[in-house]
Amino acid sequence: MTPKANLFDFDRGAMRRFFAAMGEKSFRADQVIKWLYQGGVTRYADMTNLSKGLRVRLEELAETRLPELADDQVASDGTRKWLVRLADGNCVETVFIPEDGRGTLCVSSQVGCMLNCTFCATARQGFNRNLEAHEIIGQVWLADRALRDSASSGDRITNVVMMGMGEPLLNFDNVVTAMQLMLDDLAFGLSKRRVTLSTAGLVPQIDRLREVCPVSLAVSLHAPNDALRDQLVPLNRKYPIAVLMDACRRYVSGQPRRRITFEYVMLKGVNDSPRHADELVRILEGTPSKVNLIPFNAFPGAGYERSAPDVVDRFRELILAAGIMTVTRKTRGDNIDAACGQLVGRVSDRTRRAQRLQQAAGTAAF
Ligand code: SAH
Repeated sequence: MTPKANLFDFDRGAMRRFFAAMGEKSFRADQVIKWLYQGGVTRYADMTNLSKGLRVRLEELAETRLPELADDQVASDGTRKWLVRLADGNCVETVFIPEDGRGTLCVSSQVGCMLNCTFCATARQGFNRNLEAHEIIGQVWLADRALRDSASSGDRITNVVMMGMGEPLLNFDNVVTAMQLMLDDLAFGLSKRRVTLSTAGLVPQIDRLREVCPVSLAVSLHAPNDALRDQLVPLNRKYPIAVLMDACRRYVSGQPRRRITFEYVMLKGVNDSPRHADELVRILEGTPSKVNLIPFNAFPGAGYERSAPDVVDRFRELILAAGIMTVTRKTRGDNIDAACGQLVGRVSDRTRRAQRLQQAAGTAAF
């Protein structure tokens, strides 16, 4: 017997094809999407504008299964972090960041990560698997419901950033399906400017994304030259800075008001000198850019320190002086380990990276 389809794995196109295969009109698919995402209804029995017969057939053919919320923490600054438990027992984390007039949800795309950026906590747990589309859009669905159920607050999701655990462009199809639902007027209805995908820089996938789902793009740059970026973001050895910057320019070409956001984590004594700022200005020349400086968020055994505030300020001034919009990201939610680079979830590491690292560390001690 083939396993039942999960309707939360379908964007509008796939939902319509599924209904067409059942001999149903496409507007039935549209009604179901509205029930699932706008009504927050997952039981067919509650989808009252569908015929009894259709509800019975749906019951036989398809499920509406989502992950579960396993934990819910609120930081002193209002940042909220959920632990999301998947059907196989793995967990990922989802973070809601309330700000004046907006609410940003930070969504995970993989269980763990395989990119091994040296300053990121997620990397330390290794990689387990890609999230399914329903596990990605399910984070938005669950957070949306949880926020609506919190009687006291009017917090709503106005923006989504694919900046949680994992590299979204290495889970391309499922991430795109989930983002289509974020954008779909029948589902969450967010504008393309309010959905941002962050990548460490997978060049072919950046080009594909422009074709199929041109949301806002953020690129984790973190270093202004290949020698340093090769160390911090090992993916750079495959797609070096010049090649990555070309892809960034292609991404925004023909779209006059668009910019790429470049993320740059400020690591004390590593990438935060005035010389680095000058190099950064030079490589961004000709690319419509915005720079996001991220104070490094520590985690046990990280081996890096956060740059001092005056060092970050001086760095920002130098970039600003070149006419590039630059902001220092406020650190949010760090008292519940919800800040950038601190998300870990609960991962059974199939690559056994943690163990190998420990062994390597043990060997090095002799
Ligand atoms: N893999 C994607 C999505 C993760 S986004 C990417 O690399 O863009 C998470 C962001 O937080 C990235 O910009 C990442 O580089 C940054 N980050 C990782 N570890 C961090 C840390 N310890 N402190 C601050 N920012 C960190």
